[in-house]
Amino acid sequence: MEIKVAKSAGFCWGVKRAVNMAVEALEKDGRAYCLGELIHNRREIERLRKLGMDFIEDMDAVKKGDTVVIRSHGVAPSVIEFLKGRGARVVDATCPFVKDVHEKAMKLEREGYPVLILGNPKHPEVIGIAGHLKEPIIASTVEEVEALPKMPRLGVVCQTTLNLNFFKEAISLLALKVKELKVYNTICSATSIRQRETRKLAGQVDVMLIIGGKNSSNTTKLYQISKSVNPRSYHVESKDEIDPAWFEGAKSVGITAGASTPAWVIDEVVQFVKDLGKGGVLSGRGVCQTAGGEL
Ligand code: SF4
Repeated sequence: MEIKVAKSAGFCWGVKRAVNMAVEALEKDGRAYCLGELIHNRREIERLRKLGMDFIEDMDAVKKGDTVVIRSHGVAPSVIEFLKGRGARVVDATCPFVKDVHEKAMKLEREGYPVLILGNPKHPEVIGIAGHLKEPIIASTVEEVEALPKMPRLGVVCQTTLNLNFFKEAISLLALKVKELKVYNTICSATSIRQRETRKLAGQVDVMLIIGGKNSSNTTKLYQISKSVNPRSYHVESKDEIDPAWFEGAKSVGITAGASTPAWVIDEVVQFVKDLGKGGVLSGRGVCQTAGGEL
């Protein structure tokens, strides 16, 4: 079996930065809180927990002098104010690209546009963006966009991990029902590169593996894209979930991973698939002729 690993597989710049900031905080302060999971990857969370990180949902646990890491998804300003009010040291690891979405959304509101966020209303990033606005409107499906009333003006931003096809469809629909539409395409290039690369790779191989947390929205989107091109696509969190039967008759395997999947988890999967191929494997991560270079 030939193994092709997507060049963009794994941590994006913003997640790498957040993990580094969290580890630095742990080295400095010995222990730290993180509001929610720092990244949507169970195994990386376990590693950070061993280093002294406590993942909490309830901010009431925070006391004066505690260190609190804000993850790359960002939070509403009220959260930072609350933590500072408690006397905590706040390490803000919000990805600068997410901060840019906050800025753009607030700018649209200042300019008098009602602001629509395209994204999942339950995702922490969208909750954080909405928290910067007085009256956010959120739509996560084509049906929800269709259901919006006709409006004289509307400003639009989107979740950085939004599916590009949904974005295009939503904007086409809005253009017909809004007189003055101002759109910021805030999809992060790390996301669109991964999505493009996944689509192309899925079309080139017999079997696709998408590695990442089942609760990671960007990994799930990669899986959906891959599945739409290649029915033999599988979403796994680790090598332990791989069923050798998936590779029956396969000559090539494509591997990609979400932006929150650490390199060591990817390496484990690549090694596992290599071992399954028993010497028939032509290439592996870092040394293979990945589709990545051409995508
Ligand atoms: S996907 Fe983009 S916006 Fe999100 S953390 Fe990574 S670099 Fe930042």
